[in-house]
Amino acid sequence: MDSLSFPAASADREFTSAAPGYWDGENISPADWNSWAWQMRNRVTTLAGLESRLVLTEEERAGVILSGNKLALAITPHFFNLIHPTDPDCPIRRQVVPRIEESWDNPEEMSDPCGEDSHMPVPGLVHRYPDRVLFLVTDRCAAYCRYCTRSRVVSGVGEQELHTEWEAAFRYLESHPEIRDVLLSGGDALLLSDNKLEALLKRLRSIEHIEFIRIGSRVPIFLPQRITPELCRMLAKYHPLWMSVHANHPRELTTEVKAALERLADHGIPLGNQSVLLRGVNDDPAVYKILVQKLLRCRVRPYYLYQCDLIKGSTHLRTSVAKGIEIIEQLRGHTTGYAVPQFVIDAPGGGGKVPINPDYLINRDDGMTLIRNYENKVFAYPDPEAQPLPYQVTGFRRD
Ligand SMILES: *Cc1c(COP(=O)(O)O)cnc(C)c1O
Ligand code: SF4
Repeated sequence: MDSLSFPAASADREFTSAAPGYWDGENISPADWNSWAWQMRNRVTTLAGLESRLVLTEEERAGVILSGNKLALAITPHFFNLIHPTDPDCPIRRQVVPRIEESWDNPEEMSDPCGEDSHMPVPGLVHRYPDRVLFLVTDRCAAYCRYCTRSRVVSGVGEQELHTEWEAAFRYLESHPEIRDVLLSGGDALLLSDNKLEALLKRLRSIEHIEFIRIGSRVPIFLPQRITPELCRMLAKYHPLWMSVHANHPRELTTEVKAALERLADHGIPLGNQSVLLRGVNDDPAVYKILVQKLLRCRVRPYYLYQCDLIKGSTHLRTSVAKGIEIIEQLRGHTTGYAVPQFVIDAPGGGGKVPINPDYLINRDDGMTLIRNYENKVFAYPDPEAQPLPYQVTGFRRD
């Protein structure tokens, strides 16, 4: 096992490299390590591969054996180097190493928690909102997140297979002028070759009413080597093109990831982050604050914080909704507004994303709005038509 030393949590504030220059005790040339093909070829995908590098618990061993017909195991060397070798509670490890808890039966959990399948006019195209669609362009990812909301189709070993009907999808987009926004996801669109991705972008750009294209991808985090200058130059030809990345814990923002994100930003791609609230990973306001502040340093604007979907086998990773509200409450006002994501619940069964906010609105009666601020001080805002109050309200505490 590699003798990596793991710094204290506060060290997650700093950017550190995940490239030790060796893998399995062998020196790896920087050219190999920095090649995304090498990273993909050397992913950890088997129980033996995991056990030769980590001390697994019984729960993890059993989870790995089970993962073969649920959601595959795959971890890139880059991401693997962030895993603590002996601590099963490591926040990186909990996201990607399977556990037997994934087989727990919870009747509230579903294989399609957001009701996507019932909103697909064409296989692979989810049209839930009036003006935008989610386009599932591959079922593969660089590594697999154990809580993946799309694990029914992602990785190719689950309940269903993804059969995107490309021509039918393009025809649907062409014949629906109300669609002005296309979100490429999967799986992970950045695992397509540059050529394939470019053909897809070109086709979308040929449809005049599509104003806005975005890619939802965890590749910049799992596989920053994929963010080559060539890829960035190609993407920049299809602006306005935005990207949502997916980082959950500050340790994921390595020096390599930071460089990849900067390369994307340098090519004019606005970056957002979508994170999932996960027990034992980022359900701590102090940890989450480090994450969002570090994202801003990488020129990424925190976009959404998701309450973990009711996906089958996620009981051990989910938190209460109150935890998400607490995290937002401890950010808003206490740090840069740009650092505060919108907390959302993707409504179970298929209602779309619903914003959930701490209650800052105390009362809204008689032309008067009573609000509280981040310090819990109460203020009144009179509507323009309202009678003036017979008294002056200044900040007072509400406890
Ligand atoms: C999340 C999502 C979108 C994009 O939603 P925004 O709030 O615009 O980011 C679009 N379609 C589906 C089906 C989604 O789940
Ligand atoms: S990267 Fe996204 S699609 Fe892929 S396994 Fe993780 S959550 Fe699922």
